[in-house]
Amino acid sequence: MKKRIVIALGGNALGNTLKEQMEAVKKTSRAIADLVEAGHEVVVTHGNGPQVGMIQEAMDAFSAGSPMHPRIPLTVCVAMSQAYIGYDLQNALREELVNRGINKSVSTIITQVIVDKDDPSFKHPTKPIGNILTQEEVEYALLNNKPIINDSGRGFRRVVPSPKPLAIVELDSIKSLINAGKIVIACGGGGIPVVMEGEHLRGVPSVIDKDYASCVLAKNISADSLIILTAVEMAALYYGTPQQINLSTITTEEARQYIGQGHFGSGSMLPKVSAAIDFAESGENKETLITLLEKAKDGIDGKTGTRIVKGGKPDGAL
Ligand code: ADP
Ligand code: MG
Repeated sequence: MKKRIVIALGGNALGNTLKEQMEAVKKTSRAIADLVEAGHEVVVTHGNGPQVGMIQEAMDAFSAGSPMHPRIPLTVCVAMSQAYIGYDLQNALREELVNRGINKSVSTIITQVIVDKDDPSFKHPTKPIGNILTQEEVEYALLNNKPIINDSGRGFRRVVPSPKPLAIVELDSIKSLINAGKIVIACGGGGIPVVMEGEHLRGVPSVIDKDYASCVLAKNISADSLIILTAVEMAALYYGTPQQINLSTITTEEARQYIGQGHFGSGSMLPKVSAAIDFAESGENKETLITLLEKAKDGIDGKTGTRIVKGGKPDGAL
């Protein structure tokens, strides 16, 4: 059965450097092309944590060495990351489709996303960006009151506010392309965060989590599935401990209970599980899946990954 699928790609689907990204998008494109070949309508979103951090550092070094150029706003860095990742991804996907004899154009839409200027995250940053910091960089950040966070035990990274996405500014254009049978890459890096000031859209320095933005997009285009591809095969309880329990299919109520018990990393797995709950409850038969990029096909076939389905807490749940 033909489905409309939003595929949200995580950082590991994109690599950490320019060279890694060129390679990673090829593999990613194969997974996406499999779905297109199977007849599904596919819309691609992606994260930008490592990339936007890299761009911001480069831009900061540029303006520090060139007083004529003031600091480049974080929102402009997000826009740059959308273009840079979109460029690689749309080319790799185009080539993969051409090689399979599929004639479909792929385009990246620079996407702005409206947020609330009073979103609580502006006071409590949760979103890690950039690379894992060295011990020296951690000490420098602590001395200079620069916000950093321990990212799910992987090390310290810089952290920025991550407001919740409310609406997608370019939604009409995205819909037109999908309805015309085109493949769209949108909401990159969660979208460029903006607030409405009359007719003006003002960028606000922050990075939206792409999992939440993907959920807003999936709901707005009446998608059937939201598939979140990341660095782990399954969401887990007691993650990273000897007691780890991988979750296969859970109900939205169970998922809420596990969130309450603090099982999911705040800037990493929590946005995925929360987005999956929100999407699963947005209608009937809304499918959600969280799994590894390499397992996308198996996941869609129901062989692996974490599925969150609308419903209460079954008897015997943990
Ligand atoms: P992406 O770039 O795909 O958004 P993130 O790093 O934001 O990836 O989120 C995925 C990461 O979440 C995993 O690699 C893992 O380190 C972390 N994580 C935190 N809590 C959990 C959990 N309970 N189960 C699985 N992974 C978790
Ligand atoms: Mg993430």
